[in-house]
Amino acid sequence: MDACFAAFDKDQDGFLSLAEFELICKALFRNERGKVYAFEDGRLADIFRVFDRDRDGLIDKKEFEMCWNRWIKVCTRPKSAFLVVDVQNDFISGSLNIKKCAACQDGAEVIEPINKLLDTVPFDAVFYSLDWHPVDHVSFIDNLHLRELDDSSGIRKDEARVYDTVTFRGPPLQKQRLWPRHCVQDSWGAELHPKLKVLDRGVKVYKGTNPEVDSYSVFWDNKRLTETTLSAQLKRLGISDIYVCGLAYDVCVGATARDALKSGYRTILIDDCCRGVDLVDIEKTKATLMGDNGVIVTSSQVKAMVEGRDRRPELGYKLAMEISASIENGAAADVVGKGTGNGHAQGTQEIGE
Ligand SMILES: [Zn+2]
Repeated sequence: MDACFAAFDKDQDGFLSLAEFELICKALFRNERGKVYAFEDGRLADIFRVFDRDRDGLIDKKEFEMCWNRWIKVCTRPKSAFLVVDVQNDFISGSLNIKKCAACQDGAEVIEPINKLLDTVPFDAVFYSLDWHPVDHVSFIDNLHLRELDDSSGIRKDEARVYDTVTFRGPPLQKQRLWPRHCVQDSWGAELHPKLKVLDRGVKVYKGTNPEVDSYSVFWDNKRLTETTLSAQLKRLGISDIYVCGLAYDVCVGATARDALKSGYRTILIDDCCRGVDLVDIEKTKATLMGDNGVIVTSSQVKAMVEGRDRRPELGYKLAMEISASIENGAAADVVGKGTGNGHAQGTQEIGE
């Protein structure tokens, strides 16, 4: 850390100016062949301000310590999790074969590139999610008779078709897209595809197990009532980066990537390892992700990123913004906590984490 500070403090005044910080960023954010990535306008200054805690326009040694420990170290040595979403029989050749959906994409095509990544990339953790529904699940069209529709639903039970969205009676009202019966717990359709490589160290995460709530994201159900075990496991492992892929691109993969970003993770979507339901929705999924500082790559680019040889500025920016938010939350907890007498420690802990 001291050597890095000294090397980039070109005028040796004991501080890093914005121009000197820019040189650090040029050294940091490069592809594996050493080509420097450019930052979008203004973003470099945004990052600089996160670490210039006293806002004097310079980063001193103490401020650099935080920058080094929480940002530079993570950018150069990220901890990565590979999250394979719902590569299950029913979505590939079973009752919810996505080939029959609007985009006519073949879910089986994700298996080969995913297996190759599992064979060649040293991810710190690997997760497989499984859509895992009880027989009376709310998303199955043939369970419509089990629940009442609200008058606002627009579609009557006898006219509802697969892929329609209905509204179930509340409270609270519940919008639900209707799917064919799929991924019923312990059935063949719910099994991971036999050709998918399942690593011994891979962890399975089950979702959609509550009969009353659907669950697209591997983090949360659609009503955000219940979390899966994923979040706790990622935290325990100190994961910084999540690589998401699988089925279906515009449904469960998209919802998972959105929640990963919302939870503060640097999030990378592997485009050629995803297949989806609807082309327009797939494009919307990509746009949302990129708008929220996610990155979309192809599988051939993943290894260099996981090994810290290809470092993307979008991910550096995302992390800096997360650090900024956590400092502000810590400061807020500090202020609130002072009234109760025990908040100071909480606030400090948050910053020093
Ligand atoms: Zn489902």
